[in-house]
Amino acid sequence: MITTHNLGFPRIGKKRELKFTLEKYWKKDIKQNELLDTAASLRQEHWQKQKQIDLVPIGDFSFYDQVLDTSFMLGNIPKRAQNITNNTLDNYFRVARGRSSHNDPECTCIQASEMTKWFDTNYHYIVPEFDKNTCFSLDASRLLEQITEAQQQDNKIKPVIIGPVTYLWLGKAKDETNKLKLLYKLLPVYAELFTRLEQTGIEWLQIDEPILTTELSNEWQQALIDAYHTLQNTSLKLLLTTYFGELQENLQLACDLPVDGLHIDAINAKDEVPTVIDCLPSHKILSLGIINGRNIWKTDLTETLNWLTPLYEQLQERLWLAPSCSLLHVPVDLENEQKLDNEIKSWFSFAVQKLDELALLALALNKGNDCVVTQLAENKAAIDSRKNSKRVHNQATKNRVLEITDEMGNRHSQYSKREDIQRKKFNLPLYPTTTIGSFPQTLEIRQARKDFRAHLISEEQYRIVMQNEIKNCINEQETLGLDIFVHGEPERNDMVEYFGEQLTGYAFTQFGWVQSYGSRCVKPPIIYGDISRPKPMTVEWINYAQSLTDKPVKGMLTGPVTILNWSFVRDDQPRSETCLQLALAIRDEVLDLEKSGVYMIQIDEAALREGLPLRKSQWQSYLDWAIKSFRITANGVKDETQIHTHMCYSEFNDIISSIADMDADVITIETSRSDMELLDVFDEFQYPNDIGPGVYDIHSPNIPSVDSIVDLIKKARQRLPAERLWVNPDCGLKTRNWDEVKPALANMVEASKILREAI
Ligand code: GLN
Ligand code: ZN
Repeated sequence: MITTHNLGFPRIGKKRELKFTLEKYWKKDIKQNELLDTAASLRQEHWQKQKQIDLVPIGDFSFYDQVLDTSFMLGNIPKRAQNITNNTLDNYFRVARGRSSHNDPECTCIQASEMTKWFDTNYHYIVPEFDKNTCFSLDASRLLEQITEAQQQDNKIKPVIIGPVTYLWLGKAKDETNKLKLLYKLLPVYAELFTRLEQTGIEWLQIDEPILTTELSNEWQQALIDAYHTLQNTSLKLLLTTYFGELQENLQLACDLPVDGLHIDAINAKDEVPTVIDCLPSHKILSLGIINGRNIWKTDLTETLNWLTPLYEQLQERLWLAPSCSLLHVPVDLENEQKLDNEIKSWFSFAVQKLDELALLALALNKGNDCVVTQLAENKAAIDSRKNSKRVHNQATKNRVLEITDEMGNRHSQYSKREDIQRKKFNLPLYPTTTIGSFPQTLEIRQARKDFRAHLISEEQYRIVMQNEIKNCINEQETLGLDIFVHGEPERNDMVEYFGEQLTGYAFTQFGWVQSYGSRCVKPPIIYGDISRPKPMTVEWINYAQSLTDKPVKGMLTGPVTILNWSFVRDDQPRSETCLQLALAIRDEVLDLEKSGVYMIQIDEAALREGLPLRKSQWQSYLDWAIKSFRITANGVKDETQIHTHMCYSEFNDIISSIADMDADVITIETSRSDMELLDVFDEFQYPNDIGPGVYDIHSPNIPSVDSIVDLIKKARQRLPAERLWVNPDCGLKTRNWDEVKPALANMVEASKILREAI
C-alpha cells in the first residue's frame, strides 16, 4: 500500500481565526487561556480536515512562525528576551514583535528580531540570532504537548521539525562567529530531542532541509554529512525533506545521507525523479511531492496517475505521496468561496482539496482506477474546461505578445538627451521633493470602499468621496510645498488588486488568505487567463488631481513584474509570457496617461527583487524577462515624458546592471535605514539616471527631524552628484496617519530647502 502524508497545513484558519485571536490577545482583550484554546481547536479542526491522508503533520502549527518555534525549542533565545517574565509565550511574542502586547505592562519592549523571506516564498520568518556565546538547550514541551494532544485524538502523526543545518543556514551571526561552527553544539540537542520523541511512540519524523535545493558551498554540504552521521543512532525513522526546487549538484548527497527516506518536490524537480530513483539506496522510502503546494490549480489527476503508475510498480511500498511542500503557502478551503464563478472555481484547489486529490491518487494506485472513475472523470472535465475555455484564451492578447519588438522597449533617445529635454520642460529646483504615491488610507476611505462594495452607496457617491480625498491630498501637498505631487491613491485597496480588478484574466477570492508573517495575511489575486485592459484604469483620477494644481502630478501605476509576483499565476504557460501580457496592458495605460497630458509617470516595481529565483544561476534568465517586461511597459513614451520607478528593499549590489537597464529617468528606493550605504553600488556602477533615496523610514511612526534628513541627503551627496538626487520618503504613506505624515513631510521639504540655499 502506498502511504500519503502532508508536510504542513495552513494554521491561520479558514477565516483567519488565529489572526483575530492573536490580535485580541496582543490588545489584551482576551486572556492567554483563550488564545491557547483557540489554537487547540484550530489544530483539531485542521487534523480533521486531513483525515483522508495517512500521516498528518504535527508541530506545523505556530503562534507566529515555525523558525521562531525552533529557536525556542533549541533554547536559542536572544539575550535581551531572556527571563523578562516567566511567561514563555509572551517572551516569544517579544522576540517576534518587540513587545508582548500593545501596552506591555512590564514595559519590557525589546528590539524585535529581524524578519526575512522564507526561501522564494512570500512567507517571512524570524531570523535566528547567533553570536560567540550562543548555546543550545532543549525545550521540546511545545512539540511534545502537540504530539500528546494529537495522539489523544487518535491521529496518525508525523512530527515535523527544521533540520539542524537549515536552521543554522537561516540564522544570522551578530558578530564574527562562523555559524557552521555552532553545529557541534547544536547536534547534541537534536539527539536529545530524538530521544524524547522516541518515547512518544511515533515512528516517523519529518526533518526539513530545504537548503538542499540551493547552491551550497563544500562546507555546508559537509555539515549535512556530519550532522546526519552524528544523528543516525536513533530508532526514529527520519524522512529528510526538501522542497522548492531541484537538488542538482546536491542530489547524490541527499540520496546518500543516512536517513530512512527522502522527500523531493516532484513539481519543481520532476525531471530529477528518475535520477533520484537510481541513486537512492533501496532500503529508503521515496516521497514524491506531486501536488503543487505553492499554487491553487487543480492537479491533472489522470496525467499524474499515468506518470506515477510505473513508478509505483517499480517502488511499491517504498513510494510515498505528498504535496510538494507545506500547504502553508495556499489558502485553506475552496468550499468557503461563495462568490467565485462556478466554472472558474472548478479549476482551483486549496489546501483541503489538495489533500483530497492526494488521497484519490493513492486510492487509484492501491486499488485500481476503477474505484475512482467518477472522480477522475470530474477532474478531467475541470482540467479540460480550463484548457479550452474562452475565458482563458484570448487570441488578440497572444498575438500582441508575438508581435512585441525590441523597439517597443527602447526610448527614442538615450538618457543624456532626455535629461536635457526634461530639465527644460520641468524646470525643477535642485533636490526636488516628492512622495511615493499613497497618502494615509483613513477610516473614511475604507468605509466608503466597504459601503460601495456592499452597494450601500452609489458609484457617483463613491467617486465624490474619493475626489474629495484627492482634493485634500493636493491641498496638503500645496501647503507643504512639495515639488512633484501625487493624487494619493485613495481609490486603491491594494496596489495589485486594484489593477487586477480592472484587467481581464483575473479572479478574486473572499477567503484566499495566505500567511505572510505573524498575524499578517495576504490574499493574492489569481491570474487564470490571458490579460487585457478593456479601458483606462487610472487616467480619470490623475487628470482630476492635475486639474487642481499647477504642479506636475505623477501618474501612478504598478509594474508588470510586481503584479505577477504578488499574484497566484497560471501554470499553463511560462511566467515570462504572463508577465509580457501584463506589460502590454500597463503599457497601454502609460500611453493613455501620456496622451491625456500626464508627463511624469511612476511605475512601481516594489517586488522586482523578490522574484529572484533561489539559485543564482537562474537569476539572469529571470532578470532578462523581468526587465524586458518593464521596458515594454515604460519605454513607449516621448523623450519629454519622465518615467519614474520605485522599489522597496533596495539591496541592489548583485543586480545593479539590470536596474540600470530598466532605463527609468528617476528611481526612488528604500534606503533610510541603511544610512545611505545602499547607494554605494549606484556610485560604483556610475548609475547614470536620477535617484531618490528614501530619506525617512515610513515603517516607523517616528517623525524624522530636519537635521536627520539633511544628514542623510548629505550622505547621499557623498555618493552621487547633487543634480541627480531627489528627496522623498522610503515608500508609500498609506499605513501612516496624517498627524505623522504632515510634520514628517514638512521637515523633508525644509531639509531640501536648507541644502538648496547652502549651494
Ligand atoms: N505607490 C505605492 C504606494 O505609495 C508604492 C507602494 C510600495 O512600494 N509597496 O503605496
Ligand atoms: Zn516601496
